[in-house]
Amino acid sequence: MNKKFYITTPIYYVNARPHIGHAYTTIACDTVARRQRLLGADTFFLTGTDEHGQKIERAAQAAGKTPQEFTDEVSAQFRALWNRMGITYDDYIRTTEERHKKRVQELFRRIRDNGHIYKGTYTGQYCVFDELYVDVVGPGAPCPECGRPTETVKEENYFFKLSLFQDKLLQLYTEQPDFIRPETRRNEVMSFVRSGLRDLSISRSTFSWGIPVPDDPKHVIYVWLDALANYITAIGYGSSHKGAQEAFQKYWPADLQMIGKEIVRFHCVYWPAFLMAAELPLPKSIMAHGWLLFEESKMSKSRGNIVRTETILDVLGADALRYFLLREVVFGQDGSFSFDALVQRYNADLANGLGNLASRTLTMITRYFRGEVPYPSAAVPQKGGDSAIAENARKVIAEYSTLFDQYQFSRALEVAWGLVAAVDKYIVENEPWALGEKQDEESRSRLGTILYTSAEALRIVTALAHPVIPDATSKIWAQLGLGDIRKFPLSDLKWGQLQLGTKLGNIEPVFPRADKSAIERMQKMEDQQRSAASPAEGQPGAPAQAPAVLPVATTAAVATPAAKPAAPAPDGKISIDDFAKVELRVGQVKAAEKVKGADKLLRLEVDLGTEVRQVVAGIAESYAPELLIGRKVVIVANLAPRKLRGLESNGMIVAASPEGGKAVLASFLEDVPVGTRLK
Ligand SMILES: [Zn+2]
Repeated sequence: MNKKFYITTPIYYVNARPHIGHAYTTIACDTVARRQRLLGADTFFLTGTDEHGQKIERAAQAAGKTPQEFTDEVSAQFRALWNRMGITYDDYIRTTEERHKKRVQELFRRIRDNGHIYKGTYTGQYCVFDELYVDVVGPGAPCPECGRPTETVKEENYFFKLSLFQDKLLQLYTEQPDFIRPETRRNEVMSFVRSGLRDLSISRSTFSWGIPVPDDPKHVIYVWLDALANYITAIGYGSSHKGAQEAFQKYWPADLQMIGKEIVRFHCVYWPAFLMAAELPLPKSIMAHGWLLFEESKMSKSRGNIVRTETILDVLGADALRYFLLREVVFGQDGSFSFDALVQRYNADLANGLGNLASRTLTMITRYFRGEVPYPSAAVPQKGGDSAIAENARKVIAEYSTLFDQYQFSRALEVAWGLVAAVDKYIVENEPWALGEKQDEESRSRLGTILYTSAEALRIVTALAHPVIPDATSKIWAQLGLGDIRKFPLSDLKWGQLQLGTKLGNIEPVFPRADKSAIERMQKMEDQQRSAASPAEGQPGAPAQAPAVLPVATTAAVATPAAKPAAPAPDGKISIDDFAKVELRVGQVKAAEKVKGADKLLRLEVDLGTEVRQVVAGIAESYAPELLIGRKVVIVANLAPRKLRGLESNGMIVAASPEGGKAVLASFLEDVPVGTRLK
């Protein structure tokens, strides 16, 4: 009877600090895990961080840290956020942990011993951003996944015989239609696999931040093989300890692996192929959700519109965010986030909806029945409205469960909140407050029935909604006098379980109404954070100060026509600290083009080693765009973003502007690595 349920989030790549997109996946998993626990399943919920690869090595270098220091910091940020949000993960795996490294090597060995790994030479394009070999031609050709320039690599590598698994994978998708959800993603994967699979390079020898290939430590294991393996290494695969082996036997295969749609190929093609090659069981289902857009546009570093979770936690709390994301966004599709919509949904459904139902019902029971759940009258005939609510609640329990277990969170919540609305209407129509003024027996009986009916419906919505809004529902449950909601066996939920005479707890409002200032406060917090974090977004320990404007008279403020110099000291000199505020870095131009309708402007894509920035520069009269490709330039990396001709410029290129002459770019006589800081 006590079935198991193993659920995983993707492990988050530590090249960026956690944002609302990470929180979205984690919240969805936490909600499913909480529901499974309430249903009595032996639940194991895994999350963690993905910490190897060239991108991390470079990001650490740019931040002036060792890769381990760098990953320690960012991984801790993720963990602290999940703890703050009350995420109920059972284990938090980091791919830099010893337990993981050893077990990944064990997996590599097993696949190799099964004859699915061989050594060969790879020449081709590699996208550092995606950690992906891509099928494009020529140095700098854009990555088909992300559009960033690729790098040419030629190296002796270990290859995985992915081509061998093409038919088996297609058979899997056909025979197990729920393996990939939703169907749109399944169709994409099937057509990708049908178009033909090539063997996959699964080692790198040009950098060292990874797990060494067993018996050939010059190579490190491909970061995706390393990362995907976390789902089995965390629960004991490859361990020689008996306890770990038993845990693996018990929990694997995973019941649900939740991912974002951008990593479908890795999880739905490579991952099952690796498992097949190792002769291990496959996960039962992989569910890909869509992207969270910010006011309709994709959140991205270069747009600077990534929303932090902390802001929402500070102003409205975790329940508000959880409810909003699962109610507002159709799971599996892209959804839009905005502070306006968040506050509107919070007020309508939580403050005025569930919160109001709880406080009016429980307050009346306290006032009219001394805080004890009243008896529904047997003597006074029930009226139509009473049994309609009971009937409605029975239907809601069944429908909610069906929808939720198909991960249709939004529809499930809509159904549950339909009951909240029905009870509200029922209360208004029956006017219990008027009955409460009367002392005759019939009025008292009628009042008892109405308040019992309302409280019982409230209890049912509270139990169903608990996995989604755990804090508030725990409080309402306690106010109903029912103790610890986590101990309630959800599978037994049915109408009429509320015990008559139950003594209510202390009544306090759970969702105070949010006024307009909540939106402004959140907006302001985000703006402050953005301007403070822009020097090194995604890098931990970035100085929390406003970006400085380059106070050097000889540079052409190419992208900053309105820039004012920082207030100088009385003698016109600045301190070394002032100068240190300016983050100058070596960048390499990857793309350049004229800006339509602006004779002086070029739009450039500049690689800073850790990211590619769009910079708009007033150098079109000095340089033809095609001459700039590949050129190394000096970038003011921590300049606040600004818009020029509708294009966002993230940073500024340093150039000398002789009086009356053309701008000349600052450059280097010796070779210098991209991303290096000037100081
Ligand atoms: Zn890419």
